[in-house]
Amino acid sequence: MINVTKSYLGNKTKFLGYVDSIYASGWLTNHGPLVTELEERLRDYLGVRNIILTNNGTLALQIAYRALNLTGSAITTPFSFVATTSSLQWEGIRPIFSDIDRASWNLDPQAIEARIEADTQAIVATHVFGNACDVETIAQVAQRHRLKVIYDGAHAFSVHYKDQSVFNWGDVSTLSFHATKLFHTIEGGAIVTNDDALAERIRLLCNFGIVDTDIIDGIGINAKLNEFAAAMGLCILDDMALILEQREEIASRYVQRLSDHFDLQRQQPHSQRNHSYFPIALKDEDQLLRCRVALKDKGINPRRYFYPSLDTLSYVQPQIPQTESRALSRRVLCLPIYPGLPRHVQNTVIETLLNESSQGSHLPTEHIWPQVAASLLLDDRLSPPAPAYKRIY
Ligand SMILES: *Cc1c(COP(=O)(O)O)cnc(C)c1O
Repeated sequence: MINVTKSYLGNKTKFLGYVDSIYASGWLTNHGPLVTELEERLRDYLGVRNIILTNNGTLALQIAYRALNLTGSAITTPFSFVATTSSLQWEGIRPIFSDIDRASWNLDPQAIEARIEADTQAIVATHVFGNACDVETIAQVAQRHRLKVIYDGAHAFSVHYKDQSVFNWGDVSTLSFHATKLFHTIEGGAIVTNDDALAERIRLLCNFGIVDTDIIDGIGINAKLNEFAAAMGLCILDDMALILEQREEIASRYVQRLSDHFDLQRQQPHSQRNHSYFPIALKDEDQLLRCRVALKDKGINPRRYFYPSLDTLSYVQPQIPQTESRALSRRVLCLPIYPGLPRHVQNTVIETLLNESSQGSHLPTEHIWPQVAASLLLDDRLSPPAPAYKRIY
């Protein structure tokens, strides 16, 4: 079965070399040398001021809220992985959903203000599928209303906005290094902030609040990454250029073949992507389900990221329906993309989708392709795509 992604495993000999070093030192966890090395290398690679490694991306979010002393409610996106919402609820912060932008699929900054309530303290936004949020407008809204900004950057590893890491925006950004993510440590995550004092507080929170052997400063939790996980990360970090290049090649092939027929996510201007996912929006849920069956018949397993829209979760307080997110979540399918995806499999995915789309009476009503094309052309490694406007099939 071909899945939507396949965990990248770096060089095994190199990994075993790190394992040998762990056996030699006997140091398995608690801020060992490999975690320290990975933290330093990631700080340089990403171009951020402070990065604290954690044992997953969900705790990274929860600790970020704690470090910022958030209570009350937070404005958040209904179109993300469930952890973006569940982490808030788990920390006793009431999620208030605000709708996404129809083209970028990220939180629509224009819609936020109307959703702010008296107890709202933060905006929690996701750079969904690695597409940078409109960080500048979000910063303006946050400043006007004195809100903290937390970015769930689980999809945004190595994404840049205006020539610097997108993680430099907001008060805190969090990352996930789960095995299915672009860069991973099997399980793992990180918290990024420009604020040194906040970074210190986050380090304490990740380690039970232990300052040293005799002093405990406040309530903490255990969010430490272990040495074996760090070893995996060190191996994969060596291969990042190759990973990104291969993903881009696959993504550009999908774009060339599919953009006439399906809606694609519009890239944030001045940003550069990592192709951690390749989502397409089908005409409607019927077409999506037909495509999924047709692909499964060929041994291909695409995923409905993200469905359902999070404003429909049973455990959140009743919400105003987020219509854009609900509509989109019914139409989006993520296609297989990972280094080593065989070309003939990608061709099968493409042919199957094109075949299904020509079966129905698909008439695109709204093409965002010109913007997608323009943003892709910012990257001169991609050849110009064929012009594509409304066509009748
Ligand atoms: C994967 C993911 C998380 C959770 O990360 P874990 O490391 O699996 O805990 C949070 N938010 C988003 C958007 C994700 O995709």
